[in-house]
This record gives sequence, C-alpha cells and structure tokens, in this order.
Amino acid sequence: MLIVKKFGGSSVADKERIYRVARRCIEDYKKGHQVVVVLSAMGDTTDELLEKAKEINPNASKRELDMLLTTGEQVSVSLMAMAINALGIPAVSLNAFQVMMYSTSTYGNARFKKVDTERIYHELESGKIVIVTGFQAVNKYDDYATLGRGGSDTTAVALASVLHADQCEIYTDVDGVYTADPRVVKNARKLEAVTYDEMLELAAHGAKVLHNRSVEMAKKYGVQLVVRSSLNENEGTIVKETVKMERMLVTGVAGEKDIVRISVIGIDDKPGVAFKIFNTLAKNKINIDIILQSIGREGTKDISFTVAESDLEAALNVLEEHKEALTIKEVKYKKDVAKVSVVGDGMMSNPGVAAQMFEALYNSRININMISTSEIRITVLIAESDLDKALNAVHEEFGLGTY
Ligand code: ASP
Ligand code: MG
Repeated sequence: MLIVKKFGGSSVADKERIYRVARRCIEDYKKGHQVVVVLSAMGDTTDELLEKAKEINPNASKRELDMLLTTGEQVSVSLMAMAINALGIPAVSLNAFQVMMYSTSTYGNARFKKVDTERIYHELESGKIVIVTGFQAVNKYDDYATLGRGGSDTTAVALASVLHADQCEIYTDVDGVYTADPRVVKNARKLEAVTYDEMLELAAHGAKVLHNRSVEMAKKYGVQLVVRSSLNENEGTIVKETVKMERMLVTGVAGEKDIVRISVIGIDDKPGVAFKIFNTLAKNKINIDIILQSIGREGTKDISFTVAESDLEAALNVLEEHKEALTIKEVKYKKDVAKVSVVGDGMMSNPGVAAQMFEALYNSRININMISTSEIRITVLIAESDLDKALNAVHEEFGLGTY
C-alpha cells in the first residue's frame, strides 16, 4: 500500500514529538507499505517567522515572505529524515523544487497546477521513507510560493492524488472532526465520518481542522481522508463522498468570531449598484460572506455584509476610494459579531431545521442579526459575546452530544 501521512506543526513541535512521528511512520514502513510523509513547520515557527519579518519590514514583499516562510518546512522535513535515519531506516527529505510541485504565481496564496511523481517514486522504490515539505510550491518565476496558512493539508491531498495513494491520513492534535469545538461545547462528540460537502461548509465557517482547499481538492479527485490524532491511536474521522448510515438532521455546528459586519448606507436604489459594490470588492480580492440588503426608502437603500477581520482595513479603503462612484453616503462597521452555523447533509430534505435553530437561539434570548443559508447549512450572525452560549444551545437542540 502507498500511504500519505501528513503531520501538523504541533505534532512535530519538539524532539520527543518528532521521534513519535518517526516511529509511527516506521511502523507502516515495516508492514511493507510505501510511506510518504508531509510535514508542517515545527510548532509556531510560521507565526514566529512572520513576527521576525514584521520587525525588519512591516511592508515586506510577498515574495520575500514566502522565501522566509518556506524555511520552516525545510527544517522539519530534514530533522524528520535524521530521526528516521537514527532509528535505522532509510529516509530522504525533499522540498517543492526537488519534487517539482508547480503552482500559480500568487505569493502567499498559490494553487497547485502540476505535481511531479518521478522523484518520489524513485526514492520509494529505492526503499526510503520520503518526507516532503508541506505548504510550499514553485511558481513560473522559479520562486517559492506558499499555499496559504494551513496549506500543508493541501500538499498531502495533492500528493495522495497524483501518487494514487491508497490512504491519506491527516494527523493533528485533536482526535478528528467533532460535532462542535470541544473546548466550547463540553459534550461535543467525535464524528465517525463526514461528507466532503459537510467538511467544506464546516471548514469555511469556522471549524479549523482542515485547510478548505484540501477538502475541495479531495472531493474533486476522490481522495478519501482520515483525520486523526498524532498523540494516540484513536480512530479519527473519515472524510468522503457519502456517509452511509442513518443521518442526523444536523452533523455539526461551527462558530467563527474573526469577522466584521460592514454597512454601506444610503446608496442609490437602482439596478447595478449592488453589482458595482461587490464587483469592486471582488476585484480587490476581498471575500464577502453574508449579505443583507434593506428595503429601499426614498430612492436609497443600505447593504450590510461580513468580511474576515483581516480584510477590514482593505475593504474600508476600497469603499472610501470609490465612495462617490458607488453612491455611498456613509460606511459603518461592527467588530464584535460572530457567526454560528449548523451543517448537515440531512438538512437537504428537511425544511424545519432553520426554525428549530432560531427557536433554540430565541430560548436563550440571543438576537439574530443576519441569516444566510446553503442547501446543507444555515448561518446566523449574532453578537460575539453570545457565541459560546449560542453554540451550546444549538448543539443541545439538535441532540448532537448524545445518540
Ligand atoms: N506552516 C504553515 C502554517 O502554519 C502551513 C501549515 O501548517 O499547514 O500555516
Ligand atoms: Mg492545520
């Protein structure tokens, strides 16, 4: 069997953990499997490197940032190869240039275009465990480009796909995907399995287990994933196309507080204005989440929408710059808001879920600000101070903690 195993930064944070991972890889190797290991940078390395860059130049170019950040993964893969060697097993570490993993050119947010297999197959066939840097790729300028924070998951899925791996295991410091964040909801339960679509919705709305793009890619290429802990032997959660079993209405709930609500006030109530506003924001690469438009009055209307907190400044600048063209009278924003989402394939054929969620929030006296839905998700915007209470109330309402 060919197995791809990905370990996150916390799983390789120190010597002891590096050796624990090394032994885990050797176990599979000794069973006769071919093992490809993808690693993140050790512990908080990536954050620390970003801090260092900021000290030197707060406006450092994205190219130089990627040049710096990719060193983190290079440290962890080489140390891992040394650890496996020290345990008497042949291993080799490879970076994106050596594997030849090509991406689009966008520094800091590159997407894979083509990933070569030759070098990896060659090393596997000569009996080595192959350890590959996550998070990095090579762009058309022959520069390093990183895949966005958490991108090592995507490296693992890309490799599993091109190598036709029999298994793709994502190791982290939690046991798998939960019905809710166990730090907030005490009786949250680990899920045996979730569908790609459920995982995508959960990841996009606050569950921090997997890099969103890794799930998109896994779905597209049919790579089945297992999310499990590097600290124990527990079974983990399988992410796949369909989950055969009696589905609950709701599979999980997610919360997200790093968002801001922006309102543009007094815009012209005529065709094309909303298009212009969101088109201008999109051109500036600002992702919009929930949108709410008020009913027009006296020829004007208001539109509110949410963006990631990290995009607030850019969004305000763009709106200010185009204020007149977009007919905006005033821009307001509110930072202390949060989203609560319920996600589940079972929702598709059950119309009552929204009402049930709203009732749970009402019973906890939580005010709903905005609402957005997809086929398998309902999201509400609430005050950030209500977030933990809301997650618990909704989790309880749908009976997620118990069977
Ligand atoms: N080291 C990178 C980060 O911290 C990539 C990853 O961990 O997946 O975002
Ligand atoms: Mg991660």
